[in-house]
Amino acid sequence: MTVGAAEYDVAVVGAGPGGSAAALALSRGGLRTVILEKAVPPRYKTCGGGLLGRTLDLLPLDVRAVVERECFSAELHHHGPALSFATQRERPVVSMVMRDRFDHLLTAAAQDAGATLLAGAPVVSVAARADGVELKTKAGAVSARFVIGADGVGSVVARQCGLPELRDVIPALECEVTVDAAQFEKFRHAARFDFGLTPHGYAWVFPKREHLSIGVLTTRRGSCNLNAEYARYLAQLGLAGPLREERHGYMIPLRPRARMFDAPRVLLIGDAAGLADPLMAEGISGAIRSGQLAARAILENGFDDRATRRAYRAHLGSTLLPELRIARVLARLIYDSSRARTWLLARHGQRLSELLTRVVMGETSYRATLGEPRNYWKLLAAR
Ligand SMILES: Cc1cc2nc3c(=O)[nH]c(=O)nc-3n(C[C@H](O)[C@H](O)[C@H](O)COP(=O)(O)OP(=O)(O)OC[C@H]3O[C@@H](n4cnc5c(N)ncnc54)[C@H](O)[C@@H]3O)c2cc1C
Repeated sequence: MTVGAAEYDVAVVGAGPGGSAAALALSRGGLRTVILEKAVPPRYKTCGGGLLGRTLDLLPLDVRAVVERECFSAELHHHGPALSFATQRERPVVSMVMRDRFDHLLTAAAQDAGATLLAGAPVVSVAARADGVELKTKAGAVSARFVIGADGVGSVVARQCGLPELRDVIPALECEVTVDAAQFEKFRHAARFDFGLTPHGYAWVFPKREHLSIGVLTTRRGSCNLNAEYARYLAQLGLAGPLREERHGYMIPLRPRARMFDAPRVLLIGDAAGLADPLMAEGISGAIRSGQLAARAILENGFDDRATRRAYRAHLGSTLLPELRIARVLARLIYDSSRARTWLLARHGQRLSELLTRVVMGETSYRATLGEPRNYWKLLAAR
């Protein structure tokens, strides 16, 4: 054990939604928990900041104080051929946040429950021993009986544990755009998704309190220049002209690590484990869910290394992973075959939008939707 290292039951590396959700559950379960965060919260995070209904359902706290706008409607637009569909709900389909305030709120909730936050403390090394882990950070050493790696797509924890690089990490561009009142009015009511413009991907407009978060992503690296795609999208939206904007690029991991969500005394969650939804490139719900599952595995297994890791894999295998597998197949269909996408949307666009809305609202799952024979009959009947 490193002399002078602060000692905890669990060290959570990263104060994103996954890390904070895990720390909250661990602290409420009575464990001495520390969150080690590279930045000093609140910090900007490149993200659309769209919280789906299913994401809100996971959270054991009220986050409305940081929600900038609730969208009760979602629009799906397709280009070439031009098709448009909209769904409407009485509950918000997407709640819009800025990630600095949202993440900070979750971290503060974990602190209120008893977790310690060490901010400005990037973890630089992770070394497992028989009964715990030694971590070195730029702000000092910490030892813990377990580590949760919640440090995102470039996970230092995963690298330090010798795990291979994540596969299918895709680029995305996010721009915070201020437009005039007339333009804002056109976009402020709905979460908007556009397909058929960006090769192998989609573009979006998420209205915040006073500005628009506009983004583009492609699921096939190297297939296009995202800056050029973004400019094309703005022109399509009629938002040409000099705009006040901040542009940020980052990566999203769309493929779970191949059965490698853990190493001795370490569990990986969220983007560090590759748990974003491959169809929507939405990662906050996977991060929160896996954080809660990792906390549960630790709380239920009395710090037994093997039992805890086995339990975490089993929890992921019975919940998140089957969903991500189905989303991956759907993503390939939608993003890699423009003919299949056009055919599906031209014939069943409204029904598919409704089904997808039910999934994002947490009213059903991909698995339940595909396993329900009535859905196939409805699609056939709609021809
Ligand atoms: C352009 C874009 C748009 C997106 N839009 C959406 C959206 O609208 N909705 C949605 O659900 N998802 C969206 N995502 C995906 C989403 O942002 C991620 O899936 C989500 O943030 C993952 O959460 P996490 O807790 O796993 O990791 P992160 O949110 O990445 O948090 C990781 C934390 O770890 C810290 N950290 C990193 N390295 C270290 C270290 N060595 N030591 C200590 N701390 C460290 C970081 O500072 C950070 O705070 C988007 C992503 C991108 C790129």
